[in-house]
Amino acid sequence: MSDTPIFSQPERLSRQSDYELQQLQLSFEFFPPKNDKMEERFWVAMDKLAPMNPRFVSVTYGAGGTTRDRTTKIVSRIEKDTGVNAAAHLTCVGASKEEVGDVVRGYQEAGISRIVALRGDPPEGVGMPFQPHPQGYKNAAELVAGIREIGDFDISVACYPEKHPQSPDWHGDIENLKRKIDAGASRAITQMFFDNSDYLRFVDRARNAGVHAPIVAGIQPIHNFTQVANFAKRCGTSIPDWLADRFDGLEDDPETHALVASAVAAEQVTELVDRGVTEFHFYTMNRSSLVFALARLLGRRPA
Ligand code: FAD
Repeated sequence: MSDTPIFSQPERLSRQSDYELQQLQLSFEFFPPKNDKMEERFWVAMDKLAPMNPRFVSVTYGAGGTTRDRTTKIVSRIEKDTGVNAAAHLTCVGASKEEVGDVVRGYQEAGISRIVALRGDPPEGVGMPFQPHPQGYKNAAELVAGIREIGDFDISVACYPEKHPQSPDWHGDIENLKRKIDAGASRAITQMFFDNSDYLRFVDRARNAGVHAPIVAGIQPIHNFTQVANFAKRCGTSIPDWLADRFDGLEDDPETHALVASAVAAEQVTELVDRGVTEFHFYTMNRSSLVFALARLLGRRPA
């Protein structure tokens, strides 16, 4: 890893040319709405973000396949109604290879050609030991290989700038990522992170281990600090003290919270662009405001 401190780059985002900013690849992640009210909010956010020329928008897959039908339905509707490429997430928790194959063939029939392939977490919760289905895939690398046998999908996989919580060490973690790419994934999307040096160090580790696929920076704008901090704890993402300090005392002040969140996310992505990062995946939480502002900051305008 380079010893160059993050802030030492002379070229700031504000001085980068439109051409350079247009080279950025953006994708937006949503979750399938559970009821009519959430569905309404989902489409409002989608309608706002779809014109921002994303490479794709993706829709998550509930633990244990709980959202299987909703994920398929919503992904096909996004493609049909907005014309934007959509990716369906898929996990192999609690399902046989045959059952997972049925879902993949269902995606194929619905015209979905992009999959984010994940192992998933046990129904007991993140961090509990993973027990594969007796006739199922043992991990995401096997799942990627299984999907590849069915069709020519564009496959993304997950990776972890602070190491997956169940990886015993860095070597095992990066070797696992390498297996997923070697099995046929086109890119890896990171878990959320708040310290950019974790991401930059991770990319160096992966490159040194011979992983050359794009490592897309997964950015979580902080719509609600308490919720994000709780989720971060469960998935092994650290919350730096400086970040907690910035949101301290803002629980009952949504206006200032939103302004701070916007500044924090803007600072994170501009630093990354200044360090040469060109691919971003935004976790939208089905809300458009912060992500729309970030996309604008990165030079996007509604088509
Ligand atoms: P894997 O790559 O299989 O790795 C899991 C762990 O097992 C790692 O610690 C790895 O090192 C270890 N491992 C794997 N193979 C071996 C082996 N052969 N020997 C030893 N160790 C091994 N979850 C959902 O339920 N639905 C979603 O839609 C969803 N979307 C996500 C999107 C992104 C971008 C990210 C980053 C995560 C997402 N998740 C989702 C969460 C994900 O399912 C969990 O993080 C899960 O714990 C790991 O999934 P994985 O695909 O990274 O697993």
